[in-house]
Amino acid sequence: MVFAKVAVPVPLGQAFTYSVPQEWASRVVPGARVLCDFGRRQVLGVVLELSEQAPNIAPEKLKPLRAVVDSEPVLPTSLLDFLVQLAHYYLAPIGEVMRLALPTVARGDLEKLKAQGVGNTESIKSVGKLVQFAVANTAAIEQARNVEKGRLKGAILDELNKLVDAGALPISQLEISRSVAKKLVDQGLIQLERRSAAEPKAMPSTPLEEAPLPTEAQRAALAEILETMQAGTAATFLLHGVTGSGKTEIYLNATARCLEMGRSAIVLVPEIALTPQLVQRFKSRLGDQIAVLHSGLSPRERRLMWQKLRDGTLRVAVGARSALFAPVENLALICVDEEHDSSFKQEDGVQYSARDMALLRAHRSNAVCLLGSATPSLQSEALRRAGKIRYLSLPLRARAGSALPKVEIVDLRRFGPGPTGDRLITLPLFRALEQVLERKQQAILFLNRRGFAPSLVCEACGEIVQCPNCAVALTVHTRPRERMVCHYCDFSSPVPKQCSACKSARLSQEGVGTEAVESSLVTAFPHAQVGRLDRDVAAGTKSEPVLARMRRGEIDILVGTQMVTKGHDLPRVTLVGVLNADAALSLPDYQAAERTFQLLVQVAGRAGRGEDPGRVLVQTHNPDHPAVRFALKHDVAGFMEHELAERRQLHYPPYARLALVRLDATDRSLAERAAHQLAEIARKVGTELEVLGPTAAPLARLRGRYRFRFLLRAQERAPVRKAAHAVLKAPLDRRVRLSVDIDPLNML
Ligand code: ADP
Ligand code: ZN
Ligand code: ZN
Repeated sequence: MVFAKVAVPVPLGQAFTYSVPQEWASRVVPGARVLCDFGRRQVLGVVLELSEQAPNIAPEKLKPLRAVVDSEPVLPTSLLDFLVQLAHYYLAPIGEVMRLALPTVARGDLEKLKAQGVGNTESIKSVGKLVQFAVANTAAIEQARNVEKGRLKGAILDELNKLVDAGALPISQLEISRSVAKKLVDQGLIQLERRSAAEPKAMPSTPLEEAPLPTEAQRAALAEILETMQAGTAATFLLHGVTGSGKTEIYLNATARCLEMGRSAIVLVPEIALTPQLVQRFKSRLGDQIAVLHSGLSPRERRLMWQKLRDGTLRVAVGARSALFAPVENLALICVDEEHDSSFKQEDGVQYSARDMALLRAHRSNAVCLLGSATPSLQSEALRRAGKIRYLSLPLRARAGSALPKVEIVDLRRFGPGPTGDRLITLPLFRALEQVLERKQQAILFLNRRGFAPSLVCEACGEIVQCPNCAVALTVHTRPRERMVCHYCDFSSPVPKQCSACKSARLSQEGVGTEAVESSLVTAFPHAQVGRLDRDVAAGTKSEPVLARMRRGEIDILVGTQMVTKGHDLPRVTLVGVLNADAALSLPDYQAAERTFQLLVQVAGRAGRGEDPGRVLVQTHNPDHPAVRFALKHDVAGFMEHELAERRQLHYPPYARLALVRLDATDRSLAERAAHQLAEIARKVGTELEVLGPTAAPLARLRGRYRFRFLLRAQERAPVRKAAHAVLKAPLDRRVRLSVDIDPLNML
């Protein structure tokens, strides 16, 4: 009797054991998908391991597998291993983790499988099936056609011509017999290859672009990386290079070498929708061997990409954090671009960090992990100091003559509103904008608030218009029409005419959002083209048209949220304005300084990438804050030194291990009580562990649920894990939702 441990996509920690019916014993392999009973449902699971030993349960009590979907592992075993490790690290349900890596099975396929019942593997063929393709050897066919006329029969020639046009076709689509096909192979006219059935057409290839001659620093960095890759040993590198220093060139070169070696690579970028240029560069340099994974893909396209990565047709995956789970084999390289970026952390479902897990996957695959940034995370810096990762530096901008921009402070305590009357468009900023427009250059203004005004306040009684579901103020929006919107739950309502508490009609808009800045600029500079880039104009992949207009010079001033700070390479931008640097500093989060510093340096890096020198104006009430002071001088090392000392003293990462336990419920006291009970359980774990809290979360109510939390902290990982485990296992009222966030980034 054979037993299979199966990861089932349900929010429960462990894998479940099923018995394998005798007749399939030879067909069930680890990594293959199986259909199995779970409660009253049938679910698709993944076999983790097989054993002949009966588990503790009586064998007759075990349910048999219902059907075998794949006869080959749907996931490479190395990836399967990695997922098991990931689930272990985050104390996450293995089935849920598995889901991160599996393509969604087309709904119809699953239904068919269920309908056809036990043991049928034919119906999901399209996912995972390889078919025989004939690939044309064009030159040889040409030769045979011209030189040795008469050798080839007319009918066969027709088929070959068809093949030459297509490049490659499934053999079933050609009207030639098996024996003829074999002959053609022997004559060197065609090759037979097993390829994914999902993609019958050969892909058109985009023209390849020449790589620039590497700079001295690039050459040195590449040499180390390539040597390690060649040796096939696992290693992590921190590639610290100022913005525009040519880090992407390094990723490109290392990836190209991977392909030459016949191995695979993964390139992770923070937000793929915002980095079309990077994707384009990869395509034009490496051709069509690249799978670009982004949120704009339809489920079908996603499955196709997945399939091509799985069968080796494509060997490079470029994408946001989920690309980490690309089903490639023989991995040699994982690049994490902008490794400090917090978007590598998934905040819902399985709360994993793709940056941290890239280290793990690379390590387990004997691959190189390349972490690149202009502002490395303190975590990476600590690893470097501990000698655990190797340091590569690109200290200068790659393009000759392009220098780092000059960063200047505009002290908001001294400068009031400029000529527009707008508090955030000070006189120095106004003058700088005039200059940019005069010179026909471009400016980027960054403000981390979308909408028109962040809140609406009653002048009579001070009441703030709040979201009915969340403990936050509603934001006033004016585009496309006037309304109030909650930025946390998307609740929206008309703008009230009077205060709900005192009925006063004197409601005033407080604060400034991107819409307000945009409209002030339009009024102040009637001849300028003003563009806006935030989630309201450009959700998902829709930012590209705005950025394209910016690249074509159709926008003079671009106002936006974080979206404008990412890796755009816009050579005509000579002015960057940070309208209010204080917003990020005031977050209730131990990483506020680090985030602000990174943001300032990154956004400053958008200026002066071309021939004209760049200028950056940072408006703040806190010009003496270390994050601001060090950013002014582009002093990354200085900031890290300062901030690491602070972290050490306050006992925060990288000098401590954290887990954040969150609880929420629609009933406030229920959530609070549960938080106290679980915190008590955690406290019993031992003296090496600190339990901070429980307290109400800074966002005390969200989507109608009251939120509480407590923090687990210790020097080492073990006590934190132990406590987290105890918390997860403790009995809990069903109405309370619990999550344990290992290595939390978002403290709200
Ligand atoms: P980063 O990723 O560090 O911001 P990039 O690789 O995007 O830097 O390079 C910045 C700019 O410099 C790009 O326009 C790129 O084409 C150019 N560049 C990079 N390396 C070289 C080089 N060795 N010679 C000339 N130009 C280069
Ligand atoms: Zn009022
Ligand atoms: Zn809300």
